[in-house]
Amino acid sequence: MMEFNQLDMRSLLEGYQKKQFTVTEVVQASLKAIDLKNPKLNALLEVNAEKALTRARALDADISKASEKKLFGVPIAIKDNILVKDWQCTAGSKILEGYRAPYTATTVQRLEAEGAVIIGKANCDEFAMGSSNETSHYGSCRNPWDLERVPGGSSGGSAAAVAAGMCPASLGTDTGGSIRQPASLCGLVGLKPSYGRVSRYGVVSYASSLDQVGPFSRTVWDCARLLEVLSGADKKDATTSHLEVPPYAARLQESSLSQVTLGVAPQWLQGVDADVKEAFDRSIEQMKKEGAKIVEIDLPRTRYSLSVYYLIAPSEASSNLARYDGVHYGFRAKEFKDSEQLYNRSRGQGFGKEVKLRIMLGTYALSAGYYDAFYLKANQVRRLIQQDFEAAFQKCDAVLVPTSPSTAFKLGEKTDDPLKMYLSDIFTLPVNLAGLPGVSVPCGLDKKNLPIGLQLIGRPFEELKLLQIAQAHEKIQGVLRLP
Ligand code: GLN
Repeated sequence: MMEFNQLDMRSLLEGYQKKQFTVTEVVQASLKAIDLKNPKLNALLEVNAEKALTRARALDADISKASEKKLFGVPIAIKDNILVKDWQCTAGSKILEGYRAPYTATTVQRLEAEGAVIIGKANCDEFAMGSSNETSHYGSCRNPWDLERVPGGSSGGSAAAVAAGMCPASLGTDTGGSIRQPASLCGLVGLKPSYGRVSRYGVVSYASSLDQVGPFSRTVWDCARLLEVLSGADKKDATTSHLEVPPYAARLQESSLSQVTLGVAPQWLQGVDADVKEAFDRSIEQMKKEGAKIVEIDLPRTRYSLSVYYLIAPSEASSNLARYDGVHYGFRAKEFKDSEQLYNRSRGQGFGKEVKLRIMLGTYALSAGYYDAFYLKANQVRRLIQQDFEAAFQKCDAVLVPTSPSTAFKLGEKTDDPLKMYLSDIFTLPVNLAGLPGVSVPCGLDKKNLPIGLQLIGRPFEELKLLQIAQAHEKIQGVLRLP
């Protein structure tokens, strides 16, 4: 029997068109993989077999229309901070335990309109704060390449589900690296769109000036197809752009590496693991051989990214998370004498340690007398980081950097040292600060047989160019197998 759960999205779509198998068969294979692997991986927090199979049967009744829908019969997992009506939405937090979404996020609506089947809600760090999935109240998720290791975060469950063959695609959110870093650690393609490319309506807000929703997949074509479904203006999110959405997948082959200039910033690469550096250099050499021009660029102010990010993100989070008060949603403390105590106890018991740390940091940075010194100053430096990229893009079409300085680390390895954990996002944070698109693609395995990721960063709204370069790279490297 064919192992449907091993197929990438494009192969599924082609198989349906040729009537080689049914959506029901594919969804059953997904559910079987979930049954088999999820108890160990903890990638999905809620699965609804009945709902998925009902949807599959409805699609099968219409299978002659398979070619009219861009995601016909594709099982997709959704990060548990994105709303899907009637499904749980915990954002990995105890404070949202038992909360059911009253409506569906625009991104999920768009997936479903193109024929996708929602297969489950994916584990994540609490309120997307973390780089390893270990801050989730519902337990860590594990990396399918090595169960002793983290899948990355915060969208760790979304990445692990795809890498484990539970589904060929998933959605994550990325505020400082949460799609690209887990994609890198799990050997997948993961894209953070330009700020404003994709609607955030129905997404649990973390840091509103940085958050974006984006896809995980196994191939660049799949990523391009997902992005074209997700992208575009939404009147329910005023930050979405009205710029036209190109047919990303259809136009992937249009450009060749010989028309492309790639920028590398050598001083940015210090502190990268030897295996990662080696794979990075090898990818660059290969692309050079295929005709790409490589130029040296300088991004001097990216070294402030960590400091800037850890002022802006917690500040915005402290404001966004004020709504979880024990009254409106989810968890409420059992004992309290008055409303003040209800708020305090519900928040005290409902939020985890990392989230509290960030709320305190953010509240402090925004408080009277400190706003100018911290939040405002951080935003000024953020502008300088953007200007560094603008200057770099005068010289190149895309910037290349490893997605993460190391491959997947062991569970518990960085939990006692927040700074060490924060450093795993050193190459992804600046991209959010500058509002740029970034995609992580697999570029080999290290000596421990763990995936390494290469990040391509582009000009605002030039996702097409990025994906074309990524596609050319994938052609050279081949698609990474599942673990
Ligand atoms: N790891 C970073 C943080 O903890 C980024 C997370 C994200 O992109 N959501 O904030």
